[in-house]
Amino acid sequence: MTENERIFWNRVLELAESRLTRGAFEYYLTDINLHSIEDQIAIIVIPDSDRRLFLEKNLSDIILTAGFEVFDLKITDHYVLKNELPETKKDEALPSANLAKPAVADVESNLKSQYTFDNFIRGKGNEWALSASIAVAQDPGGTYNPLFIYGGPGLGKTHLLNAIGNTILENNPNTRLKYITAEDFLNEFTRHMRQNEGKGFQEKFRTLDLLLIDDIQFLARRNLSGTQEEFFHTFDALHKANKQIVLTSDRTPDELKDLQDRIITRFSWGLTIDITPPDFETRVAILIDKVKEYPYEFPIETIKYLATQFHSNVRELEGALKDINLVANVKQLDLISIDTVSEAIRARKNDRAKTSSISIEAIQEEVGKFYSVTVREIKATKRNQDIVLARQVAMFLARELTDSSLPKIGKAFGGRDHSTVLHAYNKIKNMIEKDDGLRLEIENLQNKIL
Ligand code: ADP
Ligand code: MG
Repeated sequence: MTENERIFWNRVLELAESRLTRGAFEYYLTDINLHSIEDQIAIIVIPDSDRRLFLEKNLSDIILTAGFEVFDLKITDHYVLKNELPETKKDEALPSANLAKPAVADVESNLKSQYTFDNFIRGKGNEWALSASIAVAQDPGGTYNPLFIYGGPGLGKTHLLNAIGNTILENNPNTRLKYITAEDFLNEFTRHMRQNEGKGFQEKFRTLDLLLIDDIQFLARRNLSGTQEEFFHTFDALHKANKQIVLTSDRTPDELKDLQDRIITRFSWGLTIDITPPDFETRVAILIDKVKEYPYEFPIETIKYLATQFHSNVRELEGALKDINLVANVKQLDLISIDTVSEAIRARKNDRAKTSSISIEAIQEEVGKFYSVTVREIKATKRNQDIVLARQVAMFLARELTDSSLPKIGKAFGGRDHSTVLHAYNKIKNMIEKDDGLRLEIENLQNKIL
């Protein structure tokens, strides 16, 4: 099936599902398939002749509608039994000269359909990237072009990129779009060059309506056989034609040191936006959404506990849920307790501890430097305004970024009570909501510490 035929058939099924009763849809439309579209006739394969009458009566209109939507042509339907299918090779059996095919070959979009805006949880850290992505999806080429999203691993960049593509494709199934990692872009380009098919590559990429490139930092690492050159020209061709480009990266454009300057300059033509680790509340919201897929009861205390265990990577939170699933399965549990979680994630946490462990001391030092107060002052009891702010910010970050309990944090701050830590945490949290300056300050600090 070509990409357009697939889109057409999906639309047929969608319409059928909405127009037929559930029973009829399930009975008559399982096991039937589009074979091909030839001379404006959709050839549909059915497993037995009993269904023919019903389908002729009920599917014709739907085929017509979908035909006009996808091809802008009158498509009629024809049913064949599986064993009646001609043996010819599909390519020969498909002249399809009358079809309003795009002038250029179809492209595989490569989109991951599971990543949508619906299942992306908005929160501190991702709200701007999400809003910009939605804006681009609603008006591709019209708002921010290119859109450049950067941030650490596991924070949802690939998810957003695919959500943009899925939304645009849903709104306009004829969109020629491609999702590709910079690494695959490079590989595909070198493969084409080796086979002397540079033209084919250009035709494919420079005629897109939407190009979604993931992890562009990969291109910065090397300039194999002129890949940056090719990327530059692809970018320009698309941008000139008002075609949307979205890129992700693990760092800012300025930090893509080995990328040609003229490419970096182009990234700043549109909007550059960062995505930072989710705060505690967002992590809880993400978990609440994700545990819906699991057949166990997750009490809110358990979810909150899990949210304190991983703070800088949503992929790790998902991985933790898989660990828990495994344990729950083996033990045949219905309810996930804090103990179960703690046991299930032990190995994962040990792994992580080896690579990154943030200490409260490191936080106190960074915060102290930032506010020009000493660590000693942070730990002491003086209530000078600057010192109090630094102290409370440090406590806030200690809770956000480390796995330490409230009493342990209190102890590290000159033996304070856990309720003092909680008070500081809540106070800073409230202040951030209202004070963008402070929010940026703390995000900055957080990036320095992580
Ligand atoms: P990145 O590309 O930034 O490394 P991904 O997009 O691959 O990260 O995200 C890692 C995993 O976390 C994915 O499964 C993604 O669906 C999930 N994820 C990240 N952020 C969110 C969010 N805000 N809501 C729901 N899922 C998220
Ligand atoms: Mg990614």
